[in-house]
Amino acid sequence: MTTGFIPPGATLGVMGGGQLGRMFVHAAQQMGYATAVLDPDAASPAGLVSHHHVQADYLSDAGLAQLSQVAAAITTEFENVPAAALKRLGAQRPVAPSGEAVATCQDRALEKAHFVACGVPCAPHALIETTAQLAAVADDLLPGVLKTARLGYDGKGQIRVADRAQLAAAWAELKQVPCVLEKMLPLAYEVSVIVARGASGELVHFPLQQNLHRDGILAVTLVPAPDVTPAVQQQAIAAAEKIAATLRYVGVLCVEFFVLKDGSLVANEMAPRPHNSGHYTIDACDLSQFDLQVRTLTNTPLAAPRLHSSAVMLNLLGDLWFANGADETTPPWDRVLALPGAHLHLYGKASARKGRKMGHLTFTAATPQQARTVALQAAELLGLAAW
Ligand code: ADP
Ligand code: MG
Repeated sequence: MTTGFIPPGATLGVMGGGQLGRMFVHAAQQMGYATAVLDPDAASPAGLVSHHHVQADYLSDAGLAQLSQVAAAITTEFENVPAAALKRLGAQRPVAPSGEAVATCQDRALEKAHFVACGVPCAPHALIETTAQLAAVADDLLPGVLKTARLGYDGKGQIRVADRAQLAAAWAELKQVPCVLEKMLPLAYEVSVIVARGASGELVHFPLQQNLHRDGILAVTLVPAPDVTPAVQQQAIAAAEKIAATLRYVGVLCVEFFVLKDGSLVANEMAPRPHNSGHYTIDACDLSQFDLQVRTLTNTPLAAPRLHSSAVMLNLLGDLWFANGADETTPPWDRVLALPGAHLHLYGKASARKGRKMGHLTFTAATPQQARTVALQAAELLGLAAW
């Protein structure tokens, strides 16, 4: 279902109540919209700050009916909200991105096929659904990374394998669910691009972010991307725009890329929503990725976002709350916030757990060097490794 401009005052719905939903809710409310969150958790970060919280499972008939009754249009914040739920909502209300587009992003095999169809290079790979396919894997794909086709995130659902014996053991460990084996590539660094596409086909983009992962989880994002050449920048933006346009995507889309040691660009995966690597846009751009999510959902003209400050974003994982041992203690925010250009975002999660995304810190500054210097000071205060 499509529609025209939805003016402020209307209620916007979001499937999923995590931190991305919370930041969407904040952006929507700032523009004068009311919000409704569907999430089964009574204490979800977005549910806590929303006008309405439909506490129900993603596929609950009653929950979906309630959400479409209260919301004029609906988006998603969580990659693994079942595409079927979005398709059902789409019969009642405008839904962006569509269940069909999200379904492509939820399956690594479909996702890679889409990259190939768009002429965007991705890692050499093979689909493994049967023991025959396992046996037929080309030698050239090893060493590689075996990834579950569905439901992986933050490095979960993937195992690095050196040879055929390890590959067979890894597939058994992953319960022989459908997987994609990717060749292990020689990465120089990783970047991501966030684009927003409106229903009319209008496309805007943010500059490239350079991302550092630790244990499979995003740790640091640097903008402008220090190692990126203008050619790579252009190529990545053109690829992300092509990927979005070919999907007839409406909403905010993030495409993650590898830049290899030989300088070539390879698409890794995409997320049909705002992305952790784009959180800096709240503080360092004149429009954030969440503002653009609101605009794409409400058919508001998009306007190209402008980076007005250099930025370094540090992810704050639950581990930080256990820096002094087994007892949960609050990190020294007062000392961190004494640093210039510090923006603290905490997601309102009741308890810290190792590996849990609790919040992020963005440091904005006039130059990349200044942002880096202050962010390194914060990292030291928090006991985070330098980069
Ligand atoms: P997730 O859904 O967990 O983010 P990714 O496919 O992005 O999964 O993989 C997580 C990280 O693992 C990547 O950011 C990259 O650092 C590393 N990685 C993944 N695939 C490859 C590969 N084919 N070659 C080298 N490194 C890889
Ligand atoms: Mg990833």
